[in-house]
Amino acid sequence: MRGPCGEIAFVPVAEIARDFGTPTYVYDAAAIVERIAELSRFDVLRYAQKANSNLAVLDLCRRHGALVDAVSAGEIHRALAAGFDAQGDPPPIVYTADVFDRESLDCVIEHGIAVNCGSPDMIDQYGESTGGGGEITLRINPGFGHGHNRKTNTGGAHSKHGVWHEDLPDCLARARRHGLRITGAHMHIGSGADLEHLAQVAGALERLAPQLGGDLHTLSAGGGLPVPYRAGEPASTPETLASYFRLWDAARRRLEARLGRALRLEIEPGRYLVAEAGTLVTEVRAVKRQGGNHFVLVDAGFNTLARPAMYGAYHPMSLLPKNSRAAGAGLEERKVCEVVVGGPLCESGDIFTQDEEGMVRTQPLPEAQVGDLLLIGCAGAYGFSMSSNYNSKPRAAEVMISGGRAHLVRARETGADLMRGERIP
Ligand SMILES: *Cc1c(COP(=O)(O)O)cnc(C)c1O
Repeated sequence: MRGPCGEIAFVPVAEIARDFGTPTYVYDAAAIVERIAELSRFDVLRYAQKANSNLAVLDLCRRHGALVDAVSAGEIHRALAAGFDAQGDPPPIVYTADVFDRESLDCVIEHGIAVNCGSPDMIDQYGESTGGGGEITLRINPGFGHGHNRKTNTGGAHSKHGVWHEDLPDCLARARRHGLRITGAHMHIGSGADLEHLAQVAGALERLAPQLGGDLHTLSAGGGLPVPYRAGEPASTPETLASYFRLWDAARRRLEARLGRALRLEIEPGRYLVAEAGTLVTEVRAVKRQGGNHFVLVDAGFNTLARPAMYGAYHPMSLLPKNSRAAGAGLEERKVCEVVVGGPLCESGDIFTQDEEGMVRTQPLPEAQVGDLLLIGCAGAYGFSMSSNYNSKPRAAEVMISGGRAHLVRARETGADLMRGERIP
């Protein structure tokens, strides 16, 4: 969170809660723009919008020169609505997936969206739909992967993602049969991997790319850049990012020399651009002791932020006493204790402080009172975009702060939104 305690990007959190209610996701536009600028050495920065696909975030990325990745027809519609062109060179929108559901196949054909195929069947289905001709890129599974959690590991034999590295000759033959040129090679081995594991990808892509034939002109390093959720976790510094780029650039240049042609280098981060820019603002609604545990229950649950329940993910938290403008102010008399933070859902797993196995853990917080605000940090990536209506809870509001002002970028859902499309026969 940029700015003094109790403020997000210099707007008081108490004002945001008063004006927009809670729970509310708050995004700092300037923090996203900073992250985009840090990756400007790559020829193309392609934002993996599944991390946070709010139109305001997509628009911000577009205005700052990023292109976009889409994993569904819905994400293609979002990119178009945010002003990305359907076609161009480099393609403004790329559809990356391991399957075409019928809706996404119709959508890429209708709009002429570039496709990055993660299975041999996709090549055939695309080739049949275009009626021959055109181009594709291949997402390759190099046979290894890495992520912050086994659920975010997207490479190796246990992962469903990408075309298996030994199947490239088969993919080439299929493409040739449909008159499709393979113009790009892409790898994405996991989310929140460390830079050493990510670096192995460059070597694997360099080894495999020459098999793809004479039309190759784009290499994509995928995403996965790590974010420090916990104090002391390794952060990507300007130095580590520079050396990561150098490694990819060197692989690219060696391949260029070998293939005798220029290659464009793309990077495809999701989490890295938006995670730290987002804060989930919640209100404390109950405080109770159960045996030895001290529970703080807020108005957001795993319907609002799923990462702790899904992966045992850690999020930093801070407390803002009710009626105070600055965190810290009014906290002097409150003693710090180890607390379990949970939400309102009728589900025992609705706990923000849990480990990967679902065991409850604790986090130190000043003693909370009903009406205090609890700020859950590093919530900009895979926060709102993974939220649901479980327990018939309306999804949270989203607010973006830019130019020192808070703008509502998605209204809180209403009871009517919850039942839209339902009918009693
Ligand atoms: C999810 C995804 C990304 C982004 O991953 P992050 O860890 O959020 O950077 C990039 N590329 C593809 C194909 C993805 O599915």
